Amino acid sequence: MRKVLIVGAGITGLTLGYRLAKMGFKVKIVEKEKQVGGLARSFQYDGFTFDIGPHRFYTEDSEVMDFLNEILNGGFVSIPRSTAVWMFGKYYDWPFTPKGIFKLPLKVMLDVGRDIFRVHKKGVKKESFEEYIIDMYGRTIYNTFFKPYTEKFLKISPREIHSDWAIMGIDRAIIDDDMNMKDLLQLSKNAFFPKARNLTFLYPSIGGIGEFCEKLAKDIKNEGGEILLNTPVEGIAYAGSEISGITTNKGSFTADIYIWTASLSALCNFMAFQCPKLSYLSIICYNLEINDFLKTPYQWCYFGGKDVIFNRASISNLFSSSNAPSGETGICVEITCREGDVLWQNPQSMLARIEEDLRKTGLLRKDNLIDKIYIEKISDAYPIYELDYRVKLNQVNSRLKQVKNLIVTGRTGGFWYNNMDHSIKSALNISHKLSNNLLTENFQNGLFFVPK
Ligand SMILES: Cc1cc2nc3c(=O)[nH]c(=O)nc-3n(C[C@H](O)[C@H](O)[C@H](O)COP(=O)(O)OP(=O)(O)OC[C@H]3O[C@@H](n4cnc5c(N)ncnc54)[C@H](O)[C@@H]3O)c2cc1C
Repeated sequence: MRKVLIVGAGITGLTLGYRLAKMGFKVKIVEKEKQVGGLARSFQYDGFTFDIGPHRFYTEDSEVMDFLNEILNGGFVSIPRSTAVWMFGKYYDWPFTPKGIFKLPLKVMLDVGRDIFRVHKKGVKKESFEEYIIDMYGRTIYNTFFKPYTEKFLKISPREIHSDWAIMGIDRAIIDDDMNMKDLLQLSKNAFFPKARNLTFLYPSIGGIGEFCEKLAKDIKNEGGEILLNTPVEGIAYAGSEISGITTNKGSFTADIYIWTASLSALCNFMAFQCPKLSYLSIICYNLEINDFLKTPYQWCYFGGKDVIFNRASISNLFSSSNAPSGETGICVEITCREGDVLWQNPQSMLARIEEDLRKTGLLRKDNLIDKIYIEKISDAYPIYELDYRVKLNQVNSRLKQVKNLIVTGRTGGFWYNNMDHSIKSALNISHKLSNNLLTENFQNGLFFVPK
């Protein structure tokens, strides 16, 4: 029986663990956190359930859909999407609707109208986020929303961010290909003549998004696999071109195949590889328990301006009513940061400002009380696509390619700004390759090496 050691019990690690255990591999998963799920875990306190920001399933891939059904066994609800952006002191439906367009300041509307005829100049370089968005949507929409939002979110200039961030981010925010929002003309047409569509997402009926991973973890154990929580990797023994063991706070483990789904930079450090540094963005989630049922129609809202301290707020009970006790509301407020920075060290410093801004933006009324706030620190939440990230990633992958018994994958391991369905799909693909004993395979995102 071949032994597999998986680092990370996020969606990728657990999907692989489940599939490989079913195929007869001896599976061990080590996870640094006290629970499974990684970025798709949920927190439970006082009858409330909170995810890490808004989290919902969407896929058009039948294999992924079948896998969701296999694990959740029909235990999900289908929810229509309802989201907004906050600009000029108002909420605008996102994607835009005619109602929203006419709420914009007149000057902005006129400038956008002019931009329709200015964008898509031939031969324009589109390497950076800024160049890409201006070419796509024009300078007014860039200056009004994308620039301030991105500066606030990533804390670097959009000129220093690769256009891949725009491509992936917009795909993630829009999701529905039918929306045709790939340039300003299409965006405007869509806003004025919205097509009737029924874009819905799947969400576990109970337990939050983390329920999927909790179920997977149970299934892995039923198949004879082992999951060690509170078990961070502390060292990797590497000799010749193979890993010979992984050390954790609970001892050292050996395997035939090692699968890494955690930070790429951490992996390079453990292996003592001289690789360029790839950086990740972290988030502080402020999970608020509110003593009233809030009537906001939006599941989540983006806050791009400096007038509001947070990037996004999501209402957990609008994903599933079981996420909050009856008559109460759960709000998750996200602020991005770098691990170890001032906010990371002292997240409490923002509490007064968060409450002030929730009231200013109308999410909380005067008579709403915040009963409790729980703070969760989420490291490595987003890969940061700096202008030269592709060059750096290629260098890192070329080095890792030389390690024969290592597979590197997942969102964090692949340095891949992805969604849960992508993590599931790539894990399923790897399990197929392993079952067929294929030696080496290059996937589109990240490199996956299957040993002899
Ligand atoms: C705010 C936010 C909102 C999102 N919303 C959506 C959404 O609506 N829909 C959607 O489809 N996707 C969404 N995503 C993306 C989704 O969360 C990810 O695609 C998915 O969870 C990635 O899973 P993964 O297993 O590939 O990576 P991860 O979840 O990052 O798993 C890596 C695991 O490795 C563990 N680990 C790290 N270091 C060590 C170590 N040293 N030792 C042991 N273990 C370690 C981590 O704790 C983690 O469990 C969102 C992501 C974020 C951040």
